[in-house]
Amino acid sequence: MSEKKVAIVTGASRGIGKAIALRLAKDNFMVVINYNKSREDAEKVLESIKEIGGEGILFQGSVTDRDVMDGMVKEVVNQFGRIDLLVNNAGVLRPKYLMMTKLDEWEETIATNLTGPFYCIKSVLRSMIEQRSGRIINMSSVASLSGIPGQSSYAASKSGMNGMTRVLAKELSNYGILINSIAPGFIETDMTGDFPETALKEYKNSIPLKRFGHGEDVANLVSFLASEQASYITGQVIAVDGGLSA
Ligand code: NAP
Repeated sequence: MSEKKVAIVTGASRGIGKAIALRLAKDNFMVVINYNKSREDAEKVLESIKEIGGEGILFQGSVTDRDVMDGMVKEVVNQFGRIDLLVNNAGVLRPKYLMMTKLDEWEETIATNLTGPFYCIKSVLRSMIEQRSGRIINMSSVASLSGIPGQSSYAASKSGMNGMTRVLAKELSNYGILINSIAPGFIETDMTGDFPETALKEYKNSIPLKRFGHGEDVANLVSFLASEQASYITGQVIAVDGGLSA
């Protein structure tokens, strides 16, 4: 049994997930760094965690594969005896107007952003229900709060996630399990890295705080929601967006 609390962060090789993994390690969690394709990046995250005296392990696997996610959770429970926190962070954005969106593109987004979290949640619940405690944080998006042209599949996946969060808050409250969604606005990562210059300018002007966010801005809220200080918060969708959705 691990003496530290144990957190699984999906999609922790880059961007927001990387910032979350590092922050949780600083908060004294044993961090499971899940990644799919970016092995070298994930290894660097683990190195950075070790440099600050933290602990972590790597787990390669796509959130879209139910058996692989179940295997990840079983391995974590075998190795550490518990799971205290699941952060469903892995996600994809395939911007395209609905008229141009092909079925396989729609399905990839839903499979990664909505069905993946469903698999991961189902897998961790066995342990969390037995423990009578646990926290789940779903990485939603501002795209679930207001319509952004070209993001219909993405908005559908993230809105579905918010709905699942609200329902599960009620289904799981008797077991001491709290679940919330975070809705980031525009955060500087690879996901937003290839947006056209003119669109970037327009986005920045529309943000009341007049800056793009950083992974750490989101990780700060994850840290809080995972802490004892957040023990009366469940079923919420909380924006970290510089006021964009206000
Ligand atoms: P990113 O820089 O593109 O990183 C995406 C991460 O997800 C990578 O670690 C990637 O791992 C992982 N991933 C993708 N598909 C996966 C799969 N099938 N299985 C496991 N891991 C997978 O994205 P980000 O900006 O950090 O976004 C992280 C989360 O925040 C996403 O859910 C996104 O929708 C949400 N979000 C981001 C923004 C923003 O402005 N950046 C705004 C709102 C919400 P590999 O590289 O190893 O495949």
